[in-house]
Amino acid sequence: MAFHNLVEAQRKYFLSDATLPLEKRKEVLNTLKRMITENKEDLGKVVHKDLKRHTAYTEAMEVQATLGEIEYFLKHLDEWAAPTKVDTSHSPVDSDAEAFIVKDPKGVVLLIAPWNYPVSMCFWPLVAILGAGNTCIIKPSELAPNSSDLFENLVKKYFDPRHVTIVQGGIPETTDLLKERFDHIMYTGAPPVAKIVMTAAAKHLTPVTLELGGKCPVVVEPDADVKKTAERIVAAKWTNVGQTCITPDYILTPKNFQHKLASAIEEELKKKYGNEPKDHPLYSRIINERHFDRLVDVLDRSNGKVLVKHGADHDREDKFIAPHVIEVEKDDAFMEHEIFGPFLPILSMDNFDDALAYIKSHEKPLASYLFTNDEEKIKQFLAKTTAGGVTINDVHKHIGVKTLPFGGVGNSGQGRYNGKYGFDTFTHEKSVLKRKL
Ligand code: NAD
Repeated sequence: MAFHNLVEAQRKYFLSDATLPLEKRKEVLNTLKRMITENKEDLGKVVHKDLKRHTAYTEAMEVQATLGEIEYFLKHLDEWAAPTKVDTSHSPVDSDAEAFIVKDPKGVVLLIAPWNYPVSMCFWPLVAILGAGNTCIIKPSELAPNSSDLFENLVKKYFDPRHVTIVQGGIPETTDLLKERFDHIMYTGAPPVAKIVMTAAAKHLTPVTLELGGKCPVVVEPDADVKKTAERIVAAKWTNVGQTCITPDYILTPKNFQHKLASAIEEELKKKYGNEPKDHPLYSRIINERHFDRLVDVLDRSNGKVLVKHGADHDREDKFIAPHVIEVEKDDAFMEHEIFGPFLPILSMDNFDDALAYIKSHEKPLASYLFTNDEEKIKQFLAKTTAGGVTINDVHKHIGVKTLPFGGVGNSGQGRYNGKYGFDTFTHEKSVLKRKL
């Protein structure tokens, strides 16, 4: 019970109602804002050490995204936290009764984060956890050690540990943490570990939010503007070298369009990374040797035809792997699991219906994408396939919309957050009926 005292100290603090007042919640959100703003250069530097990701990317995709969430919460918190009156006209209630929903914080929340976007995966959900009036224990990933060390130091400096604290470590520490009783657990990572988390949570009947990964398909129809399609795919896919949960995992397109699309992607890669991505500051690295070996093993086992290999051979010491586009068959090694790296397989489909059938016969993805001008196909895609979220004629973009929920479905997760959806996730909606005496 290594973490029992820590959890109980947070529970005691929560039960004292210290985190309940809206003024306190705003104060702690402002503290988070200050912590991130005052240290944004260091945050960029540690992520660069872990992933060799350019600081401008971390600033835009992690720092500003989290600060934007804080601002959005500060603006709407009073409204979201206020009791909501409900209509009783269709219910058998007494004429003097009124019914409403009171928003209770849940209590002590455990947040387990992955390494690929270390800043936002720890602090973006934290905004909702604190805004909803909870305390939080954050377990960042041991695979991004420079980021995790900085987070621990910063959180110690800025927060009361009874309100927010960081526990560092890997599997043993997370296993010990999961023995404790939490009021909510949010886990972001891979589905196999999510099952371990959910099993541990079940012992205490703790609700979970699981933000997972999977294979995100991109359907490209031949009527799509090939240059624009390639430009938008390249802008997203190789940022963080494909180590992004909602990144295009594979493309489905007709056979006679594959080569045209691959050439357009190669052109865009040249524009974005020059002739040698290895030397380009915007091209990141694989997180560690284990993931590097996993990716090279898939490439070795693949029977696909490499259509594009843009840049130098892979280099284990540097953890560099060049962007690849590979023509594959359905049973190829690349089609087995989420790739989470710089390989983009293309699978040919006879027609649009086959593409929909292929998606439907696999696990529900975290995100799916379609490029076409055909409104009927867009309608069919949205009606007949499911995914956590969808962007049409671009990729990744739905995640930036504050009024859309972010989360998966089936094997890609359960629960959601982002703006008000996050507030609701970490809140218990208490039903109240009030009569007069
Ligand atoms: P991971 O599951 O290996 O690790 C995530 C966290 O779980 C880490 O903090 C780690 O310490 C902990 N952990 C790992 N093994 C554990 C075990 N056996 N018992 C208890 N805890 C354990 O995931 P990862 O490699 O860090 O991240 C990659 C995965 O995360 C990909 O599948 C990606 O798609 C997914 N992801 C999803 C989202 C999303 O928002 N849905 C965001 C980022 C990443």
